Amino acid sequence: MFTIKGKTGDWELVIGLETHIEVLSNSKLFSGASADYNPTVAPNTQAGMIDTGMPGMLPVLNKFCVDQAIKFGLGINAEISKISRFARKQYFYPDLPQGYQISQPADEAPVVGRGWIEIMGDDGNPKKVLIERAHLEQDAGKLKHDVHPTKSFADYNRTGVALLEIVTFLDTKNPENNSYITSPDEAERYLREIREIARALGVSKANMEEGSMRADVNVSVRRVGEKTFRTRTETKNMVSFKFIKSAIEYEARRQIEIYENGGTVTQDTMRYHQDDGTTSVMRSKEDALDYRYFPDPDLLPVIITDEQIERIRATMPELPSRTRARYTADFGLSDYDAARLTENTNISKWFDTAVNGNAKNAKSIANWMISELFAHPENWDERNEKSGIVDDMRIITPSDLSELVDMLGKNTINGKQAKEIFIKMLDGESGTPREIADKFGMKQMTDTGAIETIVDDIIAANPAQVEQYKSGKVGLLGFFVGQAMKKTGGTANPAVVNEILRKKLA
Ligand code: ADP
Ligand code: MG
Repeated sequence: MFTIKGKTGDWELVIGLETHIEVLSNSKLFSGASADYNPTVAPNTQAGMIDTGMPGMLPVLNKFCVDQAIKFGLGINAEISKISRFARKQYFYPDLPQGYQISQPADEAPVVGRGWIEIMGDDGNPKKVLIERAHLEQDAGKLKHDVHPTKSFADYNRTGVALLEIVTFLDTKNPENNSYITSPDEAERYLREIREIARALGVSKANMEEGSMRADVNVSVRRVGEKTFRTRTETKNMVSFKFIKSAIEYEARRQIEIYENGGTVTQDTMRYHQDDGTTSVMRSKEDALDYRYFPDPDLLPVIITDEQIERIRATMPELPSRTRARYTADFGLSDYDAARLTENTNISKWFDTAVNGNAKNAKSIANWMISELFAHPENWDERNEKSGIVDDMRIITPSDLSELVDMLGKNTINGKQAKEIFIKMLDGESGTPREIADKFGMKQMTDTGAIETIVDDIIAANPAQVEQYKSGKVGLLGFFVGQAMKKTGGTANPAVVNEILRKKLA
């Protein structure tokens, strides 16, 4: 378990994430304006009457966004509510000119209810992170304060775009149920899993750099073994894995210090400062009551039918958790290896392409990927926020690796030569592994006849050592193997050499 050492003992972390992902859809949640806002689009060219809060405009629910939410809900093993409602949440800030945000109230069933997401826990085992809910709501626009010395500008292109907010569950009635996030690394893996599920389903680009995925981070600490939860703080609007991890750690240490100095933590909303990695109080936490949720009289309840759910379920692709199960069951991979290979759908696609249905090679390909490819960031930029990792791995392709593993399996080359070919490929040597092996004369000598001839020569040339070996100094076998490897320029298959030597010296 991840703990932080304080002056007076060890502390554990309790983390709750509220993740917002921008729903992929042609139009906004309640208006026909394009939802494809992006920095190249001129400000306010994709903002309709509803988005700009014109009086008398009636919102119309975009049913596709509801389907997207259902799809995501099915992807996180969640209950889908047959009926849910939209309400107005008080919001007074110029980036949302309606004066309220249309959302789904916290005390009512949202579109997506209880579910869970499986991640790799810090102990290397699969861990279920419970989800409390996921609801649809409107995004706000963007204010620009740095364009003019005395004026601020508002761009409403993003206003009203559908967001799906996914909230993790903390079982406060049963604090020993540890199906929640307990470390900065688990938080990152959880967010990556959300991202991969959303991308695999086409529900969102879920790209933190582009702002299509953001998270509010709730953190509290408690002494190891403590049975209740303590007060948490919430750090708003985090947009990078790195900052999220840093904010969690900073907040946890700050709270520990307060407790250890005899103070109490207040339930504040915090702001994170990217430049020095600290947090400061933005406002003290308003109660849900202060939002004054008000049922939106312009919108009918959202009714979802079983047929609708089943129609969407039928379109679901394989999700990372299912992929992991397939890797452990069909390929005999460990849970850890399966988790590493499904951190991202591009990685698993790469792996599947390399294996190409040939289960025999799967374990070896997995080993090469995890211990070699992942270790070479010039080839494998998995930490890169950009999508399209397969493209990023253009130096070594899936078929390159599968060919290399194949050659090894067939004893065409030995392990040392395989590593050499691998390094050459990384260095940009052109050609397939087979071509590279040919070019550099790397061939494993497996022709037993040829090896026997060489072994005979060595035995004839070293009668004294043969005598010693036969009288019990079996450690000399290594000497003979070395001689044979030298004679073959390192190309002999060491296992074959060993076997022949043992036979001839017996
Ligand atoms: P709010 O309505 O104030 O946003 P929620 O009850 O929706 O609060 O909880 C927001 C998030 O904070 C959830 O992910 C929840 O699991 C998490 N959370 C609640 N209590 C704690 C706590 N004591 N420590 C850490 N996280 C918490
Ligand atoms: Mg909340």
